[in-house]
Amino acid sequence: SYNRGSSGIFQRRTVSGRVPADLGRRRLRIVVTGGAGFVGSHLVDKLITRGDEVIVIDNFFTGRKDNLVHLFGNPRFELIRHDVVEPILLEVDQIYHLACPASPVHYKYNPVKTIKTNVMGTLNMLGLAKRVGARFLLTSTSEVYGDPLEHPQKETYWGNVNPIGERSCYDEGKRTAETLTMDYHRGAGVEVRIARIFNTYGPRMCLDDGRVVSNFVAQAIRKQPMTVYGDGKQTRSFQYVSDLVEGLVALMEGVHVGPFNLGNPGEFTMLELAEVVKAVIDPSATIEFRPNTADDPHKRKPDIARAKELLNWEPKISLKDGLPLMVSDFRNRILNEDEGKGL
Ligand code: NAD
Ligand code: UDP
Ligand code: UDP
Repeated sequence: SYNRGSSGIFQRRTVSGRVPADLGRRRLRIVVTGGAGFVGSHLVDKLITRGDEVIVIDNFFTGRKDNLVHLFGNPRFELIRHDVVEPILLEVDQIYHLACPASPVHYKYNPVKTIKTNVMGTLNMLGLAKRVGARFLLTSTSEVYGDPLEHPQKETYWGNVNPIGERSCYDEGKRTAETLTMDYHRGAGVEVRIARIFNTYGPRMCLDDGRVVSNFVAQAIRKQPMTVYGDGKQTRSFQYVSDLVEGLVALMEGVHVGPFNLGNPGEFTMLELAEVVKAVIDPSATIEFRPNTADDPHKRKPDIARAKELLNWEPKISLKDGLPLMVSDFRNRILNEDEGKGL
């Protein structure tokens, strides 16, 4: 039911041949790579609710069918088990390219695979975008700024990244993915968008992915001490997932290539984060210091002026309001895990 329109973009006729009344525009067919993961599954929910067709491509490295099971049976939803390192042929209007392990534990597990995913995976999705005239959005990361010498970080900052360190497979992988994206834009006229995402949290995060918010929340629920790495004075800025999804959609639908920082400028030390988790989950929660990991950025905070001005976007949910929204999901999953172990 797709025809190549004169614009070169695929025009989809609905079954009735008309634009669905509830959309006010033609329905789009959208690929979300990494759609079975944390951010991807929330994005898919938003696109399905909006009335579009969604094809998820995921190899389930860190993603889970559980994150999408509520959509199984929806005729506008499709899930393909596929590794983006391999080419794939599809006819679509938009590509949200998220596939990539995102937490340090996962991306260091097989660093060469992380690089292949970032480079070959992004190349394949750009090749697909070029062939069918689809718009392509890359989810890059604040890690492209490395251990930043500029604070807060603006999109114009080129970063301070170690090319040969343990994090390089991810940081340099994403930097190359950005380069590829701009080269397909300049060289082949592909419509592209680049988001630089700052630390994001919410329901459906992997329980044991080693990221600080998921660690602290799971530890507090399990009545274990919260593990603070280093002196706990390093900072991060934490964004609730629904704010990020709004930003990604605004970026895709807008006219600006970017890159755009998408993050919450509220900056916390890890010790302050532990205090918030304590207040929200368990006032008797304790902390325990552990050695820090190599190349850990000392501070990170987005300057989001560009996204505010050009996308009319800014995050709405503070850490204090967002944390409670992930607690019941974490409690349920930890409970199920314990039951599974016969505890
Ligand atoms: P996630 O691990 O929950 O999701 C990543 C998804 O990609 C998973 O479903 C995984 O199975 C899939 N995947 C990995 N390699 C693949 C491959 N080769 N082929 C197909 N699928 C593959 O992580 P997330 O937090 O949802 O991150 C999504 C995207 O956002 C990533 O690109 C990440 O780099 C970026 N990002 C996230 C954050 C954050 O704080 N969550 C911050 C910056 C950037
Ligand atoms: N590609 C893909 N699906 C498509 C079109 C291309 O997976 O629909 C892959 C293709 O296999 C190649 C990559 O994307 O590995 C880059 O494609 P492009 O056409 O830009 O380059 P070329 O094939 O000429 O190297
Ligand atoms: N961190 C911590 N305890 C943990 C996990 C992480 O103190 O249990 C620290 C980590 O050293 C880093 C910060 O929290 O300074 C954010 O780490 P995360 O892995 O969540 O994200 P990233 O380093 O990618 O920003």
